[in-house]
Amino acid sequence: MMLALNMSNHSAIEQLGTVTNRILVVEDEESIRELLVLGLEEEGYEVVAVADGHTALTQCQAPVPQPQDFPFDLIILDLMLPKVSGLDLCRFLRSQGNHVPILMVSAKTTETDRVLGLEVGADDYISKPFSMRELVARCRALLRRNRLNIAADTPTIVHFQDITLYPEEYRVSVRGLAVNLSPREFRLLELFMQNPRRVWARAQLLDRVWGIDFIGDQKTVDVHIRWLREKLEIDPSQPQYITTVRGFGYRFG
Ligand code: CA
Repeated sequence: MMLALNMSNHSAIEQLGTVTNRILVVEDEESIRELLVLGLEEEGYEVVAVADGHTALTQCQAPVPQPQDFPFDLIILDLMLPKVSGLDLCRFLRSQGNHVPILMVSAKTTETDRVLGLEVGADDYISKPFSMRELVARCRALLRRNRLNIAADTPTIVHFQDITLYPEEYRVSVRGLAVNLSPREFRLLELFMQNPRRVWARAQLLDRVWGIDFIGDQKTVDVHIRWLREKLEIDPSQPQYITTVRGFGYRFG
């Protein structure tokens, strides 16, 4: 068994200032389980280790109000386990719509086992004997990939003073009241709010909001800015949100 534990702890440092990832280790062989716990804790992870599939299931079924409150960020799952097998556990979690990253570990090394593990929804597969360094690298990759997915899935609601923009719902509220924006006005405001204080030339706004194929006048921008001010500003003639930058264009905020 190659279980090198003399790893650098740069990843523990890398994790400082971020939320500690919790890993569930499901492994019936005590020596391997202990080495996994030691190695992962040394890397800065919080580890819960269990020895059979049934206990793992209990850990995973603790009632959580929201899917994102699932208690683990990653599961390291042995394939051959007493009571409930790794395959069954994996299959069960996926059937519940649980997308927690799963790294399957097994002494079996045939391609069939690998394929089966991945088919029931495991994200990656590592066979025993493995090096702790490789296992940690794979864990890190899975966690990173998952973080990126979550970030991509989470709609970013944008606030600026009294204005709130909900990109997913295509909705804007100003001083607590809903305002109706045309698609162009919406896109323009979204761009502004995502880049507060940035100065935009009319040509840049045309490119970003209307697209480079747009054939028309830069006055189009001025017209939309006027409409947007009428909907957002308390006094459109004294704009507080969208200000004109003489000789250049516009700025939000
Ligand atoms: Ca086993």
